[in-house]
Amino acid sequence: MQIVRARVLGMCMGVRRAEELARQAAKNASAHGIRVYTYGPLIHNPQAVAELEALGVHVLDVNVVETDTASLPDLRGAIVVIRAHGASLSAISRLEALGARIIDATCPRVIKSQRLARHYEKLGWKVVLVGDPRHGEIAGILGHTSDAIVVDGPDSARTAAIALRDTPCALIAQTTIRQEDYDAVIGIFQATVAHMIAEKTICPATRERQQSLVELCGQIDAVLIVGGKNSENTKRLFQSAQECGKVAWHIETASEIIPEMIQYSRIGITAGASTPDFIIDEIQDALVNLSKEVTL
Ligand code: SF4
Repeated sequence: MQIVRARVLGMCMGVRRAEELARQAAKNASAHGIRVYTYGPLIHNPQAVAELEALGVHVLDVNVVETDTASLPDLRGAIVVIRAHGASLSAISRLEALGARIIDATCPRVIKSQRLARHYEKLGWKVVLVGDPRHGEIAGILGHTSDAIVVDGPDSARTAAIALRDTPCALIAQTTIRQEDYDAVIGIFQATVAHMIAEKTICPATRERQQSLVELCGQIDAVLIVGGKNSENTKRLFQSAQECGKVAWHIETASEIIPEMIQYSRIGITAGASTPDFIIDEIQDALVNLSKEVTL
């Protein structure tokens, strides 16, 4: 059995940077008895969150920070790491007011979107965020403006565009949405609104992993898609592998390896943008070991 890894797989630059900052904070803090928290789970991957928890990095509930600070742990002197998705200005102020020291691990690409939103709002333009209103990144950018709105697809885009037909609009996409979904919303605004601009804020990380998977599918018989079951970009990789006509499994850990996987002579591995390297390595090792056991 031959194992082939996708050319680009696993953690993106922003998540890797946030994870390294949290690890470094935990290392420095433990020597001084300082507690370390992250603003929401740092990564959409339960194993990686559990690993950080074992290093003493605990997760603060984002909703509790927004609504009920009385139920938060005592944050005086503690470190709070802001995840790659970023956070609203009010959440950061609230954490600081509670005595926390902030380490801002917001992805530079998300910082750019936050800056653009503030910039257009200052110019008097209406900021229209295109993405999932429940996603941390969109909630964070929204919290850098005073009256931005969110559209999550053609229906809400049509309603918003009609209401804003005489208002200059600046469209800013969630970094992880699909280009075709953004293009559909842009088309609706172009057809309806007198003055508009659409900023290019989609991150290439998701597209690069998708393209690498398509290349990989040309070289293998079956493929393992590694990543959190709650990770949207991992779920999309799984969908693409099936669309390429390949036998595919979406797994989180090596414990999900089954004998059926090693019946193929060439098996591919790819991983979502929040999958840590150690999980990919464990899965590859488990495949090799299982294959050796079967050969013996
Ligand atoms: S997907 Fe892109 S924008 Fe999002 S954290 Fe990763 S590098 Fe940053």
